[in-house]
Amino acid sequence: MRYFPAYCRECRRSYLVRVELPLTSSQAESACPRCRAEGLLIPSAYYVESDRAQFEAAEAAIHEADLNRLQVTDLLAQLEQLAGQPEIRPGELAAVLSRFPRLSGLESLLPSGVSELRRFLGMIFTVLTPLSCASSFGSGSGLRPAIVKAGPGLALEENRKIG
Ligand SMILES: [Zn+2]
Repeated sequence: MRYFPAYCRECRRSYLVRVELPLTSSQAESACPRCRAEGLLIPSAYYVESDRAQFEAAEAAIHEADLNRLQVTDLLAQLEQLAGQPEIRPGELAAVLSRFPRLSGLESLLPSGVSELRRFLGMIFTVLTPLSCASSFGSGSGLRPAIVKAGPGLALEENRKIG
């Protein structure tokens, strides 16, 4: 059984949807389990049954942290740097998360194994990305499309300004 993450722009939450491959158009949209609005699948690695609890806990922790868009962009840029390394050492991800005190709930979920850490990092990316560019997933909330096109480059710019 495979699960893809989906994002609901109404309640700004991510959730996992069970899918069969190859995807069909009827699977591209799915009702949000929280508000029943139409959610969109997020391009991502797929997850399996044993990932679900961890994904949902990570999503809830990120939602509860209620980071603003600048914080999300800053965090994504720092995580991108980490993900680009050939190896993530235990403690490095925790060090990044600890710079965001509201994410203490996420920090407490960190797995200890190195390969599990990378998988967990992927989950965090999946949940954070739509929050950083929500307009690209929505029907247009009036935000400039340039933000979406700029992609990771913009994230690094913002990070530099903050640092
Ligand atoms: Zn919803």
